Order: sequence, then structure tokens, then C-alpha cells
Amino acid sequence: MIIVMKAGATKRERDEVIKKIKEYGYTPHIIHGTTRDVIGAVGDERGKVILQSIEFMNGVESVVPILKPYKLASREVKKETSVIKINDTVAIGGKDIIVMAGPCAVESEEQIIEVARVVKNAGAKVLRGGAFKPRTSPYAFQGMKEEGLRLLAKAREETGLPIITEVVNPETAELVAEYSDILQIGTRNAQNFELLKKLGQIQKPVLLKRGMSMTIQELLMSAEYILSEGNHAVILCERGIRTFETATRNTLDLSAIPVLKQKTHLPVVVDPSHATGNYHYVAPMSFAAIAAGADGLMVEVHPDPEHASSDGPQSLKPENFTAMMVKVRLFAEVAERSL
Ligand code: PEP
Ligand code: MN
Repeated sequence: MIIVMKAGATKRERDEVIKKIKEYGYTPHIIHGTTRDVIGAVGDERGKVILQSIEFMNGVESVVPILKPYKLASREVKKETSVIKINDTVAIGGKDIIVMAGPCAVESEEQIIEVARVVKNAGAKVLRGGAFKPRTSPYAFQGMKEEGLRLLAKAREETGLPIITEVVNPETAELVAEYSDILQIGTRNAQNFELLKKLGQIQKPVLLKRGMSMTIQELLMSAEYILSEGNHAVILCERGIRTFETATRNTLDLSAIPVLKQKTHLPVVVDPSHATGNYHYVAPMSFAAIAAGADGLMVEVHPDPEHASSDGPQSLKPENFTAMMVKVRLFAEVAERSL
């Protein structure tokens, strides 16, 4: 249920409502709006009738049941799109389209620093790079692990770009959070509920990728796991889903963007690299994602894709990324966004 406070409600009135919510065994989540506060009361909805009595408390405008199974993620609870602050200059969900770019995996200091400089000069605002790699084959490169995190931090020092990297299990979540500005949950872990809960307890922005066989509702339920633990900084990522089509690695579900925009206040980023698996298709899908309303892009870039230790075929060479970004800027303008 959502408790909508009156525009002029006092802190004391709000605290009384929170106390009452707790008495009834619900967990309150305060969402500060521009004109009024809204309190999400999350829990088993059996006590519906009791909760309705909150409607008569001072400072309360209305009590609205949330009909959707996802509560804190829904637009019902928050009308404006959430703007997730990454550092003092970068935020996702506002007017700027945020491009996150970098190699699939960190391979060496030279590689990550070179890519960081290239993507920054082209207009990317976040550096990506995998240190813990969840690979389909146990024999494939598994990432540089903590050394990779250290190199990412070094690239941040050199360029000022905040970094995003993947967390593969709850055991290493805190270690990754010590280094990274955004914690990524990959497609293979999108329903790893223990990992989702763990990242819900760490106060760092999380980019949650859609599981390759997940419905939009299931994606929102996964986001709900993070939100319900108290971390409200969640960014969703459409990265392609499994279909019968084999011409591309996955099928980019472009329609997920307007659907998500309607259903949730969380920002939506699109990853055209994993969606297509082929660098030729990355630029057109990036443009399409912007046209469909995406708040950002995540793109793989490698200085030498032929020799990349993972995902070379879908990685853009620096010159191709730079050329794509010139057009991304134009598409952003048409979509009334900026880069
Ligand atoms: C990645 O971003 O490198 C990655 C492994 O992505 P996904 O989880 O979407 O496959
Ligand atoms: Mn990859």
C-alpha cells in the first residue's frame, strides 16, 4: 500500500504514520517527492483493513493499495523517474543519456587505461569492465578478480570516470563495492535472490540486467528484492532475451523500454553489445534504444577485439565507438535528451 502524505504534512505526522505502519507489521519505505512524501508500506497485504485506518491519521491524504506484485518499483508509488546519482557530476534517469563503455573484461593496465581515455574522449560518462567474469564455460577466462578491480580504480584515477563492474556472488559483494561506483548484476544472476538481497543492503547504485529468459514482471520483482532491503538506487538494463532467432546472440527487446517506462520509475539502460553479439549491429540498436526512451547505453569497446579474452566479436574498436557517439549525440537531441 502507499500512504500519500498531504503536501504540508509535518515530520511529526509522518513519524506517527511510520510508527503505525510498523505496529501493523509492515516495513515502511519513505519516498521523498517534490511536493509531498509518499510512504510505501510493504508486507503481507492481509492486514488491508487495519491499514485503511491510517487514512484517518493527521497529515494523510490517501491510502492506495498497490495492485501490482512489485510495489516499490512501480510507478504507482512514485510518479517521477528516479534519478540515480553516481557521483557529483553523473546521474542516471535525468535529461542526460549516460553511456557506459569499456571492455568486456579488464585484461591489463594498458588495456583498461587506453579504453578509458578513448571512451571518455568520445563522451562516455562511466567506464565498464569485468573483473569477476561469469562465463558459460568453466575453461574460459574468469577475469582478473581483485587485480582487475584495482586496475579499474586506477583508470578512474587517471580519467575521473566512475566505474561499473559485475558482482557474481554475495561473498565478494563488499570487496567489489569497495572499488566500484555501480554494482552490476549480470543476466545469469538476475534471479539469484541471495545476491539481490545482499546488494539491497549495500548503499551503492546497482545496475540490474534482465535475465535472458525473464519476463518484464520478473525483472521488476528482482528489482523489488533490492529495493525492499533499503537500497533505492536501482537501474534496470535490457540486454536481449533468448528467442528462436539465431542470427543475433540474443534478441534485443526494444519494446521492453516503453513498457518499463510505463510500469516503473527506475531508469532503463540498454546493452546492445550482449543483445546482438555482433559489433555491426551495436550502433543501429543504440540509436533505436535512444528513440525508444532509454536513459543510457552500455557498450563494449576493446582496442584489439580480435585478441580480446572475451566478447571480441561484439566489441567496438575505438574508432567505431567514437564514430557511433557522434550520431548518438544527434539521436539524443531528437529525443530531447543530451549526452
Ligand atoms: C557483461 O556485461 O560483461 C555481461 C556478462 O553481461 P550479461 O550479464 O548481460 O551477459
Ligand atoms: Mn561481455
